[in-house]
Amino acid sequence: RNEPFLGCRFESTAAASDASDSPSEKFEYQAEVSRLMDLIVNSLYSNKEVFLRELIRQISIAKRRVSQLDNASDALDKLRFLGVTEPELLKDAVDLDIRIQTDKENGIITITDSGIGMTRQELVDCLGTIAQSGTAKFLKALKDSKDAGADSNLIGQFGVGFYSAFLVSERVEVSTKSPKSDKQYVWVGEANSSTYTIREETDPSKQLPRGTRLTLYLKRDDKGYAHPERVEKLVKNYSQFVSFPIYTWQEKG
Ligand code: ADP
Ligand code: MG
Repeated sequence: RNEPFLGCRFESTAAASDASDSPSEKFEYQAEVSRLMDLIVNSLYSNKEVFLRELIRQISIAKRRVSQLDNASDALDKLRFLGVTEPELLKDAVDLDIRIQTDKENGIITITDSGIGMTRQELVDCLGTIAQSGTAKFLKALKDSKDAGADSNLIGQFGVGFYSAFLVSERVEVSTKSPKSDKQYVWVGEANSSTYTIREETDPSKQLPRGTRLTLYLKRDDKGYAHPERVEKLVKNYSQFVSFPIYTWQEKG
């Protein structure tokens, strides 16, 4: 297996910082992120299912990524890779897997991985800014693209997957625990907003040993995506190249 693509992790300049006194801090997206989110939501509305694919699987044409990866799977790959040289990252003996929970009554999908997670600083670097040159290239390619059908392919190729969650979600929460940090943090973004917030996860029932829990609060018209049959079908279609187990289950009403 090739070295995993370490994403914005390599480009993160600031040291991980847990210093924050305020319960919930508000951040402005980098202008490129706002533009990207607009583009994604306005050009991909006819192919919304891409959101789950992007969260589970990504096909990349980049030479350094010959395998097919995804955000949750990337995070697990990174952990496994970095754990070789930094075994303390693996100190919490948790299985490496992906769990997808559907709550169709409330229109909520939850995707939990036990991967590398993110520190508070990494949340800002990875989900508030475009640190990757690949994404900048994507923006240009999408702008240059006259062929509407190419858009969803472009998104997969350039890996701007995370923001596709806003295709179907009015609110996205990313609760994440890096093995490098003592604390777990929650990133909260809303569709059509130029800001996001980060706070510490203090609810004891929501603590993760390690990794990331992504909660999608679906838009009124998109709540159907939280139907278990639909998610299972998408998972079956898109997860064949993911090398970690993916479990799905539904919230009992
Ligand atoms: P890409 O995966 O191509 O880097 P994304 O928009 O999908 O682009 O994700 C941006 C970054 O956010 C990733 O590079 C990664 O650092 C971080 N990230 C997203 N999802 C997760 C996750 N589940 N666990 C850890 N980091 C994540
Ligand atoms: Mg991705």
